[in-house]
Amino acid sequence: MKDINEYRKYLPDYLKKYHGITNPKKFFRCLNPEHGDEHPSMIYTPKYNICKCFACGVHYDIFSLVKLDFHLSSFQEQIKKVEELFLNYVPEKSEFNQKIIKYDYTNYFNKCIKNIHETNYLLQRGISQELIDKYRIGYDNERQLVIFPINKYCYYARSVNNDLKLKSKGNSDIWNKHYFLNGSKEDLIYVTEGIIDSLSLEMVDNKVKTTSINGVGNINSLIQAIKKSNYKGAIVITFDNDESGIKASKELKEKLSCLGVKSYDCNLSAFVDNAKDINEALVKNKKKLKESFQYINALYKYDNYLRTEKEGEDIVL
Ligand SMILES: [Zn+2]
Repeated sequence: MKDINEYRKYLPDYLKKYHGITNPKKFFRCLNPEHGDEHPSMIYTPKYNICKCFACGVHYDIFSLVKLDFHLSSFQEQIKKVEELFLNYVPEKSEFNQKIIKYDYTNYFNKCIKNIHETNYLLQRGISQELIDKYRIGYDNERQLVIFPINKYCYYARSVNNDLKLKSKGNSDIWNKHYFLNGSKEDLIYVTEGIIDSLSLEMVDNKVKTTSINGVGNINSLIQAIKKSNYKGAIVITFDNDESGIKASKELKEKLSCLGVKSYDCNLSAFVDNAKDINEALVKNKKKLKESFQYINALYKYDNYLRTEKEGEDIVL
């Protein structure tokens, strides 16, 4: 075990990895569930290794945050949890010099798949058992998290009780990344913010190719994946219908354009009773989501077809 003060220094990394806060030194939404912060009021203070809310006054170090996120009352449990989360973890600054350690989660996934019937979280959100089985989605009944395996070294998780979203440590990745491999020019791949949004698209079109970046902070991982696979098709960005989603869409569109990748920016959930994300659209009005999706999909397919035709002509000339 490390010195507990050493663990306190992991707070900014914890905020990044487990709360998706890309820059804790800028104001972010207060993590106090009772606050309901509309305007970001919390910030990380390196001097004390805490994050503090300037609206409601609450402050957390890594232990009190773990206490909150995992419902752990005793300090001993909190230390154990931080140790577990940061097991063999190399703090960001020295990451360059160290090998990133991979963990094989196969056994954990198998255990979670067996428990999936203990929660109806995804069914309630309109996702079918068929898709749950297809993606081998499981349930961690101790942590009360739905577990989405990405590959054997990586998973995403979301709490069934609150907004907590987790990424496995070590190696994080993009949902359904394989679609980018061997993509032809006519391909259209939908990119969503969260896996549940991707599954929601599959609920209205079982042939859709959809990937998810798992948090708007993860745009660069997506860019890397596209670069590596030399993807030639087009991308449809369908992020959340909120300020950060709209901002992230623009950012992604620009980065894709720098790569020479054609993209369309579509605030799809806004078409469906102004839902905040695709899953909410599915739950609110599946029929309308399906119709809206079919409409934009046909439009983009046609536009992308024209693009491939034109480029085809160029080569002939
Ligand atoms: Zn607050």
